[in-house]
Amino acid sequence: MFSINTSKGSVAFSRFIGPFINGKFQPSLASSPAKRPLYNPCTEELLETVNEASPEDVDLAVQSAQAALKGPWKDFTGKKRRNVLLNIAQALEQNMWKLTVLEAACGKPLAEAQYDIEDAIECFRYFAGHADKLHGQNFATECNHKSYTVRKPIGVCGLITSFNYPLLLAAWKIAPALACGNTVILKPAPQTPLSSLMLGELISQHTDLPHGVFNVLPGGEAVGSAIANHNGIHKCSFTGSGNVGRKVMSAAANSNLKKVTLELGGKSPLIVFADADLDQAVEDVFGAIYANMGQNCCAGSRLFLQKGIEDQFLQKFKARIEKIKIGDSLDEAYDFGTMVDRAQFDRVMSFFERAKSEGQAELLIGGKRHGTKGYFIEPTIYRNVSESSLLAREEIFGPVLSVMKPFDTIEEALERANATPYGLASGVWTKDLSKAEHCVQELETGLTWVNCYNLCSSHMPFGGLKESGFGKDLGAESLADYTTVKTVHIRV
Ligand code: NAD
Repeated sequence: MFSINTSKGSVAFSRFIGPFINGKFQPSLASSPAKRPLYNPCTEELLETVNEASPEDVDLAVQSAQAALKGPWKDFTGKKRRNVLLNIAQALEQNMWKLTVLEAACGKPLAEAQYDIEDAIECFRYFAGHADKLHGQNFATECNHKSYTVRKPIGVCGLITSFNYPLLLAAWKIAPALACGNTVILKPAPQTPLSSLMLGELISQHTDLPHGVFNVLPGGEAVGSAIANHNGIHKCSFTGSGNVGRKVMSAAANSNLKKVTLELGGKSPLIVFADADLDQAVEDVFGAIYANMGQNCCAGSRLFLQKGIEDQFLQKFKARIEKIKIGDSLDEAYDFGTMVDRAQFDRVMSFFERAKSEGQAELLIGGKRHGTKGYFIEPTIYRNVSESSLLAREEIFGPVLSVMKPFDTIEEALERANATPYGLASGVWTKDLSKAEHCVQELETGLTWVNCYNLCSSHMPFGGLKESGFGKDLGAESLADYTTVKTVHIRV
């Protein structure tokens, strides 16, 4: 057992001896298995050491997942798959606090962590509703022919996730994959594998999911790469950075042309017009950039304010920031935690140095570490950021807002907002609905929020355009990415 201390007491967890393959935890097949120490990012103390998987374990998991496809899982009707997903949701709900603590131990405040788990549960319930409603179509083609399509699972799905919403992002992929009758090999991010491993434990204890249908392989690049290159895997759904997304795509191209979906990074623009409800806009922009301490793919990191409102907006915004309570993510008293680990902390801190030497922006507040222990970074604002600055171009993935030079017209705002290779999300604040609708049409992003931000529902597709990726997580749209369609003609 290992335990995690919270402001509400200590919570004990099982130790995981290795990857979860074929229905059980087992030691890695590697001759000298990798061990990854996980540190509490608030205290920098050792939390747990994880026994990682190896490429040999990927082979074993693929064999198990392939055998399950041909075995009992094949006979699981839509109704039975629905029930499994509902059982998973129930098991998660019964263990909400433990899962919340595991996510919060990655530096995320408890309230945000609980929200993620609730969303993950909702996701399993949403896709449970689809499991028994997947069907093909009938077509009128030639006389004396019956022509129809059949929707079938793709096969073994390799699901690779990033560190920022560990269980939630996994749920976004596992739930539709299982609803459609696929088998799954999940590789969580190396920094945050614990909630995914606990999901394996809960599935084995609380559901009748046949062995081999769901596998979890903790590990880093070697394991991810082995999944992306594997000829026995038929689909790879990836969430992470653009650089690694490119490697996944190229691995798919150079192996068996497995289907790929990519959910990648962003540099999301936020446009606040002078006619907006400024108090609402301040609150929303605050959440857009500082939720999960900026470690959010949709983070609204480029703020465009219409000329005339900049001083008022920033004054209110600074007042909002002063209400933040930065501290131990496992203590309910705090609502702003840390970067996930030392590497992410160093990465964000390096932007402050680079921005200083570049000299293309004015630091308004923050730009430094908070305290002397833990990976806390102060909420940061730069203003007068020019389009060519690295603060406007690069995804920082930290609590850093770039307030761009103010804009005059809607056309100018749109042109500047779209001037990025990314295309994940955008936000618009105005009381004028026709202005809002024009922005919705013109913004080159997969999601646009108007007078709100970060609202995300299992019912609706989520995914980016341009270099933010392709394919959708969530919503009925995502089912197409987890199924193949067979065309049938029968002479009758
Ligand atoms: P990352 O790209 O470094 O890692 C993502 C995953 O890929 C990890 O599990 C990692 O171990 C694995 N990986 C590393 N090398 C690999 C390889 N060669 N082949 C296969 N897998 C490999 O990203 P990160 O630092 O974990 O997450 C931050 C990034 O994720 C940001 O760019 C963020 O915007 C993006 N993200 C996107 C979304 C979205 O839905 N669009 C959601 C969350 C995060």
